[in-house]
Amino acid sequence: MAPLQTHPAATQELSKLLGPERVFTDEATCFAASFDNMRLSFMPEAVIRPKVEEDIGTVLKLANQHKVPVTVRGRGTGNAGASSPIKGGWVIHLDHWDKIEIDPISAMATVQPGAITAHINDLAAPYGLFFPPDPSSLKYCSIGGNIATNAGGLRAAKYGVVRDHVYALEGFLPTGEKVKWGAPLRKFVSGINLRDLWIGSEGTLGIITKATIKLVNKPLARRTFLVACRTDESALEAAAELMGSRINPSVFEFLDTQTVEAAEKQRGSRVFTTEELGGIKETCAVLLVEIDGHPAALADDAVKINLWIKKFGVASRATDNEVEAEKLWDIRRTCSQAMYSLGNAKLNEDIVVPFKSYVALIKYTREVRDKIGLPTPTFGHAADGNFHVHIMYNRDNPEDCKKAEKAIHEVMKKVVELGGAITGEHGIGIAKSPFLSLQHSPAEIGAMIAVKKALDPNNILAPGQIFEPLNVWEHRPVKVTLSWDKH
Ligand SMILES: Cc1cc2nc3c(=O)[nH]c(=O)nc-3n(C[C@H](O)[C@H](O)[C@H](O)COP(=O)(O)OP(=O)(O)OC[C@H]3O[C@@H](n4cnc5c(N)ncnc54)[C@H](O)[C@@H]3O)c2cc1C
Repeated sequence: MAPLQTHPAATQELSKLLGPERVFTDEATCFAASFDNMRLSFMPEAVIRPKVEEDIGTVLKLANQHKVPVTVRGRGTGNAGASSPIKGGWVIHLDHWDKIEIDPISAMATVQPGAITAHINDLAAPYGLFFPPDPSSLKYCSIGGNIATNAGGLRAAKYGVVRDHVYALEGFLPTGEKVKWGAPLRKFVSGINLRDLWIGSEGTLGIITKATIKLVNKPLARRTFLVACRTDESALEAAAELMGSRINPSVFEFLDTQTVEAAEKQRGSRVFTTEELGGIKETCAVLLVEIDGHPAALADDAVKINLWIKKFGVASRATDNEVEAEKLWDIRRTCSQAMYSLGNAKLNEDIVVPFKSYVALIKYTREVRDKIGLPTPTFGHAADGNFHVHIMYNRDNPEDCKKAEKAIHEVMKKVVELGGAITGEHGIGIAKSPFLSLQHSPAEIGAMIAVKKALDPNNILAPGQIFEPLNVWEHRPVKVTLSWDKH
């Protein structure tokens, strides 16, 4: 598909201002910047790789003058289509801005937005520090994208999300002026906190060019437990009891029986042998628990966890050895891809429900499965109720597509009814735009739009995202293999 030339004069002018080596209009570069992990392609007119920060001001000022849509792209791993240029225009691509500086005394890192999240940890490790938010995509995604989506991850159970680890941001307003929110200081309460307004705003309110983030001490030890529970319900009741016992797991993951079944089908063997399960032949739900900290404190918590396993588990394994722990993690790491053994397409919604609704949610996903005849495997973060509910279907079967689309609307309605949220970490983007009004009242959405208008009067930055419901099911995903597909 050729790039859409909707603003050729402005693009030519930009090329003169920044230099032609910074402005790409070829089909291959534009196509690569046209989608994220959601894989819905919207072609931009040009991709811009700025050299210096001031280039961003230049781009935005020109964009406002000629009313060219601008979308910022980190590393395109997003699941909500938020970095897709759905109205065309220019994509600012920042993956080449990847400097990382560690300040070990202050336990801070100053980073450029394109830095890969895992690289921050590589550089912090020699100082006994780490950046706790760890989306499963951390080897591929950028810190700029993490901040713009307020990413969560497996360790959010104990350490929180990205918002809990940002001291300061620098960048550009949609109108092209440079701003700094916060400072590289441990305390800062001057003025209205617009730093936190940028965090999670999915590239709609400004462009981040530098961030100072908080690092924390690396735990001295960790212990990992893999536990099989007889049913989904018993696993979720166990989850509530563990959290109520005031143990603070660093990782606490739930995999329902449908997810475990898909994983076992793919690997061709059971997670726990029938013998380990005391003769149980049916698939069991699985909980993955990790605790970290000082070895003495871990030993104390491990005693409590073992008692808890006796009460709720039908089989378990545990280790404090890194290599053995990886083996226990295997099912969690592979379960998402394994679901493709149940259908060639998936709807993946990262909803959140309160503890009191865990069991009701899982029962509902099975009701949906039985009603529409499509698998609804569900797994996710048991410590904060952020579950990934999937509907697996056959993309080439129009009946399946219709059923999946209808069912996901019903799931989202149910989640809100249960006191939950339509997204806990991926954001709204275009993916959840049809559901925004389920979560928020007209007054709430109106207030968000008023903020957007105040900062971006010409609606330059990421137009169409979040607030314009897009019928995403009408768009067919492109067939591409992305680097994270292989892992
Ligand atoms: C295999 C896999 C596993 C994942 N697991 C998780 C998970 O556990 N938790 C989780 O939260 N997410 C997860 N994700 C989603 C994704 O990795 C995160 O949303 C990540 O934060 C996106 O980073 P990115 O650099 O790829 O951003 P992109 O996808 O490029 O962009 C995401 C958003 O950030 C904006 N943005 C990017 N850079 C800037 C900037 N400099 N200034 C302003 N806005 C900017 C974009 O405009 C867009 O709105 C996963 C994705 C994959 C593919």
